Amino acid sequence: MTRYVIVGGGILGLAVAHRLRTDRPRDRVTVLEKESGWATHQTGHNSGVIHAGVYYKPGSLKATLCRAGSASMVRFCAEQELPYDVCGKLIVAAEVAELPRLHALHERAVANGLPVTLLNAIEAAEHEPHVAAVAALRVASTGIVDFGAVCRRLAELLAESGAELRLHTRVTGIHGRAGRPVLNTSAGEVTGDVLVNCAGLHADRLARLAGVDPPARIVPFRGEYYELVPERRKLVRGLIYPVPDPQFPFLGVHLTRMIDGTVHAGPNAVLATAREGYSWRRFDPRDVWEQVGYSGLWALARRHYRYGLTEVTRSLSRRRFAASLARLVPELTEADIVPAGAGVRAQAVRPDGGLVDDFLIVEADRQVHVLNAPSPAATSSFEIARHIVDRLPVDR
Ligand SMILES: Cc1cc2nc3c(=O)[nH]c(=O)nc-3n(C[C@H](O)[C@H](O)[C@H](O)COP(=O)(O)OP(=O)(O)OC[C@H]3O[C@@H](n4cnc5c(N)ncnc54)[C@H](O)[C@@H]3O)c2cc1C
Repeated sequence: MTRYVIVGGGILGLAVAHRLRTDRPRDRVTVLEKESGWATHQTGHNSGVIHAGVYYKPGSLKATLCRAGSASMVRFCAEQELPYDVCGKLIVAAEVAELPRLHALHERAVANGLPVTLLNAIEAAEHEPHVAAVAALRVASTGIVDFGAVCRRLAELLAESGAELRLHTRVTGIHGRAGRPVLNTSAGEVTGDVLVNCAGLHADRLARLAGVDPPARIVPFRGEYYELVPERRKLVRGLIYPVPDPQFPFLGVHLTRMIDGTVHAGPNAVLATAREGYSWRRFDPRDVWEQVGYSGLWALARRHYRYGLTEVTRSLSRRRFAASLARLVPELTEADIVPAGAGVRAQAVRPDGGLVDDFLIVEADRQVHVLNAPSPAATSSFEIARHIVDRLPVDR
């Protein structure tokens, strides 16, 4: 029997635990989560989009695990009778200058094996009558779901199958005893045979506690949302995205019909002043001190300061936020949107300032650390879990 200890009760930690209970039912699984509930950070504060896998470099982990993961996510929701909708999405070129990037995206989607269609302005309007498009890419296999609800169901299934689920348990230290990981936590010592670190915004810190030097550091990027006032929701049928800037892993402020029928607008991407900094008011001296002392952040700032300033201005001005939305749907104005919370992305940044593009999973002796799992990791979670579990040692 092997004892697997998983740190983090977001969708990745729970999906890894679920995979282990399914594939290795004789082994023991413990999940440690510092909060009082599941999915309280990235997993519970996102756009709820089941991505198809359009944007990612063919052959990358993101491309392969997202495509397979979206199918697994849809299958899980169907089996578990959780609400989801494969409603498709439209990526909109709002002006002629964006057409080369839209065509490049089309080629990438085809290379990733996805069923996509290039549409002219009239065809785009058949899908989204209020959109202003020169042309658009229709991605039929994109869907929507509530990833928090997926996690709550996973936790129920895990509890039924005998996994040990421990909330209110913050990991504060990790050391080895007889070659096995021992975790100091706010609720006592936990010993295991194999450690899986799915700590999201804190994953690099956990790796360092376990004696692993992470090749990149987590930098928190807040994504703020507005939502459309109820009487304007009719302007959006499904999902409307801009053509993204290929230099960044962020997809640009978009319009998303959520599974509960509301329509969210966002997220932007501003540097957060705390790893769990859901607003400008939240400031964590330790987090900021570490960021300021990190060469990677300065290198990133030098390279992309213009982009950063634009994002900050848009974060501080509802008028500018609305203007970004009006590029997609011209009828939308400042009066049509109200603030709707924020999420913080755990984005790994290398010491040279490069944003880690792909998922980053680092293996060490009896340890696996998930060190970069931003979007589309929620979509891909069941397949990331399979990828990890296939590599975990078994003691027999
Ligand atoms: C604004 C935004 C929009 C997004 N939109 C999408 C989308 O539409 N589709 C998509 O596929 N993905 C999206 N993502 C990405 C997706 O949400 C994440 O990739 C995914 O949720 C990562 O899951 P996780 O389990 O790694 O992290 P998390 O959900 O952050 O979970 C990590 C957990 O570890 C716990 N933890 C940390 N440190 C400790 C410790 N020391 N001890 C115990 N517990 C600890 C935390 O409390 C947390 O619960 C979005 C993300 C954001 C922020």
